[in-house]
Amino acid sequence: MDAQYWEQIMNDTSASIWHHLPSDLVSRIETCVDAACGRLSTKNPVSIFFRADDIAVPGKNFFQLIELFISYRIPLSLAVVPAWITKIRWQTIKQSANKAPKLWCWHQHGWRHMNHESKGKKQEFGPGRSIDRIRKDLLYGRKRLEMVLGNAFYPVFTPPWNRCDHNTLELLKKFKYRAVSRSQYSKPLPPNGLPDFSVNVDLHTCKETNPIEAWNHLFKELFQSLSSGFCGIMLHHQRMNEPAFIFLELLLRALIKEKYFRLVSLKDLSENRKT
Ligand SMILES: [Zn+2]
Repeated sequence: MDAQYWEQIMNDTSASIWHHLPSDLVSRIETCVDAACGRLSTKNPVSIFFRADDIAVPGKNFFQLIELFISYRIPLSLAVVPAWITKIRWQTIKQSANKAPKLWCWHQHGWRHMNHESKGKKQEFGPGRSIDRIRKDLLYGRKRLEMVLGNAFYPVFTPPWNRCDHNTLELLKKFKYRAVSRSQYSKPLPPNGLPDFSVNVDLHTCKETNPIEAWNHLFKELFQSLSSGFCGIMLHHQRMNEPAFIFLELLLRALIKEKYFRLVSLKDLSENRKT
């Protein structure tokens, strides 16, 4: 893994929300979920997926995350950084994940998770690069994941920082990726035939520094997402501490109790499977 990535994690001071948990957390989660269900205008179940980014190096937080999803039998879509994964790391990952192999959607997260833009927002697959470089990195990444992960790899693309340019989207369609997953309302729009299953709740890269505002922001985001009828929740296990794991478990418990919700993976969404 490169220094640029770890520097970003170490310099991140945005985790004020996870310094301690509000005492009324359980009731706040339940109130948020109930209010969102009351607001639903459709009788169709709400699809909810969890996407864990920056996967490749198995460690304590990674195993804790996997065990949590296994214990509730909830699908998780894992965005793997191709240049960081090795056969040895994959063997270690598989040992824990294989207890429930059907829960996971292992898919592609860029190539090296490197920013190539000299100004503006960070992007690995952005307008600062030629279409040739983009094509090469996309295919290097895919080939590597196919080689290391074998049949466990599923061709969905999550661009690092949830952003990519028009050329990337066209290439994803050309190379028969089943979907892309970015932030909600991302531009440019994907071409017809390439669905964008976007995330609209971000648990671990929240920018609020005041914990009260950060919690209000998170519950507002969760309410809007659930009541919109489609909910994608982004996780970053490297940034998680014990309170973050406690919150996530409480959230999973609240979500599985609700009959309107359908917990799915990006593979389920891509194949439009009923689960
Ligand atoms: Zn990432």
